[in-house]
Amino acid sequence: KRRQQPHGKEALVKLLRWHFGHAEFRGKQLEAIEAVLSGRDCFCLMPTGGGKSMCYQIPAMARPGIVLVVCPLIALMENQVTALKEKGIAAEYLSSTQTSHAKNKIHEDLDSGKPTLRLLYVTPELIATAGFMSKLTKIYSRGLLNLVAIDEAHCISTWGHDFRPSYRKLSSLRNHFPGIPILALTATAVPKVQNDVIESLGLQRPLVLKSSFNRPNIYYEVRYKDILNDVYADLCNLLKTSGNVCGIIYCLERSACDDLSAYLSNNGISCAAYHAGLNDKLRSSVLDDWISSKTQVVVATVAFGCRGTCGVTELVLSVQDDVRIVCHYNIPKSMESFYQESGRAGRDQLPSRSVLYYGVDDRRKMEFILRNAKSKKSQTSNSQDQLSKKSLDDFTQMVEYCEGSGCRRKKILESFGEQVPASLCNESCDACKHPSLVARNLEEVTNTYATRQRYGFSHIMISRSENMNCQDLSEFWNREDEASCSEEDVSDSDDDNDVVRGLGRSKFQKKSGLNERIDFLQRAEENYYRSKAPDKQANKSDKNAIADA
Ligand code: ADP
Repeated sequence: KRRQQPHGKEALVKLLRWHFGHAEFRGKQLEAIEAVLSGRDCFCLMPTGGGKSMCYQIPAMARPGIVLVVCPLIALMENQVTALKEKGIAAEYLSSTQTSHAKNKIHEDLDSGKPTLRLLYVTPELIATAGFMSKLTKIYSRGLLNLVAIDEAHCISTWGHDFRPSYRKLSSLRNHFPGIPILALTATAVPKVQNDVIESLGLQRPLVLKSSFNRPNIYYEVRYKDILNDVYADLCNLLKTSGNVCGIIYCLERSACDDLSAYLSNNGISCAAYHAGLNDKLRSSVLDDWISSKTQVVVATVAFGCRGTCGVTELVLSVQDDVRIVCHYNIPKSMESFYQESGRAGRDQLPSRSVLYYGVDDRRKMEFILRNAKSKKSQTSNSQDQLSKKSLDDFTQMVEYCEGSGCRRKKILESFGEQVPASLCNESCDACKHPSLVARNLEEVTNTYATRQRYGFSHIMISRSENMNCQDLSEFWNREDEASCSEEDVSDSDDDNDVVRGLGRSKFQKKSGLNERIDFLQRAEENYYRSKAPDKQANKSDKNAIADA
């Protein structure tokens, strides 16, 4: 058993001030640091921006030897190492993107018997290689391995939204390096994930630290697509009135990213699309421009099943502390995803904003996706059903966040099992700050839904969505639970407006091909709008009044 030196609180605060310039420890930082310095395993759950990195960076400064940090993303490692080097701290990372010269220098230091390095960042893939493991074993046997920190530890859990198979291999660390404390860090609060992480890593009697997930500096707001005249224009206006701030807009699909980004660019917002459809070079230049503030806003896809090097995972986890606004152009799939994504705002603790644009068509689209999502892991229809049910249950919380009138903050925290008083919000969500406006909006939304249900409108909106492929669309169309009329209703109905009202749909469906249906419905929709034009105008001025309020 290695001898662990005690470190008093004052000595640790001195290190914090001297190396990092922070006056005091925040939240549970000190408890985590004391635990690992005393040789105890620790599981640390802190929200994004909570200051997790300090929990292994201070121990690295507290005694000689190496702190090994396992990190899922190269962009994140690079960023942390650059920041540490600027502070004069000996930190490096090992990755496939480095030159062999840079790698050799690091290996020389590690092999020297007296390494100067304090922090070494590596990917889980590298840990899994025999060569690197034998190097680590040598360092360990010389008594020079201080701590193993596993950042974004939820990646080890199949219940986590960012599951990475190579993380599973980290389970061997506990056996390989007995006596070395393991610190698992995550911002994912799902209880199943916590248990899975602790078990998979084989943590022994870990100190479990959980911080509140409240992000007091984020103002939460929902805007309703169905009652907005023009969602793009609203978003553009929102960004303009927020000032020239750094922001992220999340979209469900690539085409929406491109489209929205083009619209915003044409309307004076400095922005760029970022998604897996772009080539690597373009993606990294978009990211660089955003990080260096050349671009104000990034319109990014939510990485559905896309891990590691593409999509939002890389983007959001990377670097920016001063993201002031995060918008969701589509409803996220779960509260957990929403929390992670909106949580990219205000990591520097300054006032920031989360705005979610909610629409009933988006909700249906997401329900469809979740219901039909195929998991590579679950082969049987039974486990497939269970998976869809779980996803749909998770999604219900998200719908309730949008469609309910109560405090948004309370809903987020309650979904993570935190019981909080309503006063906690301190009017920093739209439902607490403008309750009557939110109630009015919700009423208007409800009326719009009712009208659309009567007229079968959602079918038209769905058919117009250029983002769903033909397969999706035809499946969507053929779903029985969408039917709003009986066979008798349709038997003698053949006119366009009947289709708009949901009548004649089944007959029409049976007769026509997909493209014909879409064309036909677009024509029908135009007719419908033309016939309703005066009402629509009157309605518009009401909406403007609400928006102005
Ligand atoms: P996380 O990894 O939990 O998202 P970080 O470790 O990146 O958070 O820290 C977020 C921000 O908080 C960083 O800018 C960091 O410098 C700052 N920070 C961390 N600890 C403290 C502290 N004790 N006092 C003030 N600022 C802190």
